Amino acid sequence: MEIKPQALAAQLAAIVGRDHVHVDRPTNVVYAKDVMPYDLEDHNIPLAVVRPANSAEVAGILEWANRQRMPVHVHGSGTSLVGLARPKTKGIVLDTGRLNDLAIFPERGYFEVGPGLHIAKLRQALAPHKAMLPVFPGSELIATIGGAVAVNTSAHAVDAALGKPGDYVLGLEVVLPTGQVIATGTESLRKPAGIEATKFLVGSEGLLGVITRIRMRLLPQPCLLNIVADYRRTEEILETVRRMYREGVSPPLFFEYLDEKSARVGYAAVGLEPPPGAVAMLTLHADTPVGCRAKAEGFLDFLKQTGPLAARIVTEPAEWQKIWGSRAEAGNYVYRLGATFGSEITPRVDCLVEAFTEAREAILGLRSYPGPEFYSFGHIGAPTIHAYAFIPSKEIPSPVMKAIVMEVRRISEAINVKYGGCGGEWGLTAQRVDFLKQRYGQAYYDMLVALKRALDPLNILNRGNLEGWV
Ligand SMILES: Cc1cc2nc3c(=O)[nH]c(=O)nc-3n(C[C@H](O)[C@H](O)[C@H](O)COP(=O)(O)OP(=O)(O)OC[C@H]3O[C@@H](n4cnc5c(N)ncnc54)[C@H](O)[C@@H]3O)c2cc1C
Repeated sequence: MEIKPQALAAQLAAIVGRDHVHVDRPTNVVYAKDVMPYDLEDHNIPLAVVRPANSAEVAGILEWANRQRMPVHVHGSGTSLVGLARPKTKGIVLDTGRLNDLAIFPERGYFEVGPGLHIAKLRQALAPHKAMLPVFPGSELIATIGGAVAVNTSAHAVDAALGKPGDYVLGLEVVLPTGQVIATGTESLRKPAGIEATKFLVGSEGLLGVITRIRMRLLPQPCLLNIVADYRRTEEILETVRRMYREGVSPPLFFEYLDEKSARVGYAAVGLEPPPGAVAMLTLHADTPVGCRAKAEGFLDFLKQTGPLAARIVTEPAEWQKIWGSRAEAGNYVYRLGATFGSEITPRVDCLVEAFTEAREAILGLRSYPGPEFYSFGHIGAPTIHAYAFIPSKEIPSPVMKAIVMEVRRISEAINVKYGGCGGEWGLTAQRVDFLKQRYGQAYYDMLVALKRALDPLNILNRGNLEGWV
């Protein structure tokens, strides 16, 4: 049933108030956009954007949506890189931005936060409590804590060192797709074992419910020390990671790399002398300064056995800021100065070099756009290889852009399937349905669809993402 914009606005205003409903085209277009390089289509552009203030209003919106058979797309800050943030079907967008309250309970060892609070603001609020927020996406200035928990991304952090944000989530308040509000988990620091709903709602990407409150453990802020190492070639860094796991060396909190080209552009952007090749940058963590120094020195000894051109502990915060910043600047370079087609390759650690080599060859041999440049960087300790096709032009027609996105996706799918990868951890379901079927089989995918259908019989929430529409 088609609803006229003014009638739609009136119905939604009855739930959230007039000031929190938008039906104007410019706002709707803004909420349709994401970093996908190809043009929006009409079905991506929502009919309205609604900004609820609490779980009762979220429930009201979902009950209304079920009555209207109206798709609802959940929006944190829309920074997902690979297709989650763009609505797939005509419907409304539910923006979580006003669900941003925070209560810190040091005496209970946890905090509770609304999903719409920006990660950087949450980190700042936790700092006086000497607590570390275990969530580190490069987008943290604007990405929301709800988006990170909904995707369950460890982002820059090495999984083997810190785990996933979900490991620190003690409980959730969730509005189910049909509008019932549930609470999961515990107020104790003891997490339930066995079957427990928090585990599958964390990381469910807005397919199974809207997270309206998150209870997370207060994690003591560890002491940190940073290391930078220069290598001739990227492959030597990959080999170092392989060796770190093989030899049982305790993995650092962060272990990033820049390939030779990314290191040059990243270092130039922050005003550092060009490095001699590829760069590895690492952060070690421990409970005490003495423990941290010992750990960093031990790790440096290990690195020195892997044949770097240079490797050292960086103690000057200003210098580290530049080195660490070069990683973000490499990303800015490829995303701002042309068209960039990213992939996430997460192979078994013993196949890192093979996976990287195949990704590079496949991207340099792209059929949909011959002659792209190849850049690569990422959270290699995790291990994640981002292999980018970069075309220094903004003038590529939209259908060609889409063809390149699809080809790069197929390349990363094939390599992830071949080398046992998880298919990446950027919010991904919208683009990894084919991967899920190839890697785990039709029965696995059918199980996810059945779970979705059981909780969301009319397929109201994030319709299209589990179907793999683009
Ligand atoms: C510069 C840059 C760097 C980035 N670096 C990383 C990185 O290192 N690692 C990484 O994994 N990602 C990274 N990302 C991707 C993205 O920023 C993260 O995945 C981030 O966690 C998404 O947060 P968001 O608030 O923008 O969520 P959105 O993009 O708005 O939403 C993500 C998904 O979660 C759902 N969702 C959001 N809020 C809720 C909620 N309250 N309840 C239920 N579902 C919800 C949405 O429907 C959507 O499916 C980066 C992005 C950029 C632009």
